[in-house]
Amino acid sequence: MAWGMTTEPNSTAPIATPVSGAPLRLFNSLTRTVEVFTPVHPGEARVYTCGPTVYNYPHIGNMRAYVFADTLGRVLSFKGYALRHVINITDVGHLTDDADAGEDKMEKMARQQAQSIWDIARHYTQAYWADIDALHIRQPYKWSIATDYVPQMIEFAKAIADTHCYELPSGLYFDVSTVADYGRLARAATDEGEGRIEAVEGKRHAADFAIWRKTPDGEKRQMEWDSPWGKGAPGWHLECSVMSRELLGLPFDIHTGGIDHREIHHPNEIAQNQAITGCGSLDCAEHSGARMWMHNNFLIDRSGKMSKSSGEFLRVQLLIDKGFHPLGYRMMCLQAHYRSELEFSWDNLAAALTRLKRMILAVSPLRDVVAAPEVNHPKLTPLLERFDAALSDDLNTAVALTVLDEAITTKKVPAEQKRALIERMDAVMGFGLLALNREELRIHPKDATITEAEIEAALARRKEARAAKDFAASDAIRDELATKSVDVMDGDPLGWEWKLQG
Ligand code: AMP
Ligand code: ZN
Repeated sequence: MAWGMTTEPNSTAPIATPVSGAPLRLFNSLTRTVEVFTPVHPGEARVYTCGPTVYNYPHIGNMRAYVFADTLGRVLSFKGYALRHVINITDVGHLTDDADAGEDKMEKMARQQAQSIWDIARHYTQAYWADIDALHIRQPYKWSIATDYVPQMIEFAKAIADTHCYELPSGLYFDVSTVADYGRLARAATDEGEGRIEAVEGKRHAADFAIWRKTPDGEKRQMEWDSPWGKGAPGWHLECSVMSRELLGLPFDIHTGGIDHREIHHPNEIAQNQAITGCGSLDCAEHSGARMWMHNNFLIDRSGKMSKSSGEFLRVQLLIDKGFHPLGYRMMCLQAHYRSELEFSWDNLAAALTRLKRMILAVSPLRDVVAAPEVNHPKLTPLLERFDAALSDDLNTAVALTVLDEAITTKKVPAEQKRALIERMDAVMGFGLLALNREELRIHPKDATITEAEIEAALARRKEARAAKDFAASDAIRDELATKSVDVMDGDPLGWEWKLQG
């Protein structure tokens, strides 16, 4: 690994033995249909997720892509598959425009912050991993770091250079007319694809893209490698083709990313995969390198705070600073279908967090109960089957959550049975309901003008005043707290005595 960071691989083990067995059906963007998942290697699921370009903090929209990939992985584990999940970290090669225009995002940020690219990469990768942990996204089998694979990228490029590429003064370019069905994933005509800009002089087709970008004569880049085409750096699309092939083998099962990747990045990966494998028409999805391509839709924010150029942009840390536990955001994501747009608002986030708090409160009596080895109570097995059916229906987490709600509120069943069921469902939803303490969900906003200890002390005085029937004093304390943005919540069904106004 490039910067001596350690990551812990996991997630190869299935969460559970296969459940009753609704066939797992997933939407394949390549065919635009829902298909039954059939693994390339029986019993195993190999998944590649396009990871972040570590030039800045991820915003919560970016994190939706990883909550989605994590959910897919958890469902595959729930269905009994041994999961091999790779997420890459792009630390070189991603230009400010996906279609070969602009400059390298990493180089640009390093210059702006007057730091080395390696320092930028280390800092933002660690920040990304902190968000991964905060959102309970499981560690993948491997974080693949692009700069660790440059020799393999050069070998890949050499293997396809004569048959699929041409050289220009600025680098080696992939000729998209050399593969069948280019752009099918995007449903775009080769030369008119969205966002195509004829940015590089000499390109044969507007959609042709850089496999290798040469360092211009007389310049020195912070990150550059020798290659048969001169000193330079690999193209971003090449990186993912190479790392997925190296770590998962072609074809593998599922390739994921945000829906924007359906337009340029993934069609280009597919073209490269066709070139290296010598495979033809995409009528056979496997020729694309993966049997399925899955994309999450966008998180939308109308206030514009998701733009990384806006000062205070929507990062997981901003949610925490404002007093929202990050798992409220996980809940918000899971309440929507991954293929639907999801609109962010603070109210939606607060509602999602309240739902999570209710769940935690409701399962708390099961905390010290030992789970039964299997769920076999006649009141509970139908719930597990419905939960399975919802998730097997292209990951319908919204319905699965309502089944989880039902499971939590089911009465008159043995506690060990109920605990076993909740554990199983929670392993897929990823909240850790039985380990979370409801007090942990209350986060003190960064800019609050009053500390928790001061609030608790004021409330203790108020209790005394009420016990002494001094309601004037009690009301005065309540009003005083209100001026400091603290709402006193008498009789709150969740047992919260106070909350800070958002
Ligand atoms: P990037 O670091 O820009 O390559 O983006 C990381 C991931 O976030 C990619 O899979 C993108 O497709 C995805 N993504 C970017 N913006 C959003 C958004 N607003 N909502 C959901 N996913 C997004
Ligand atoms: Zn990628």
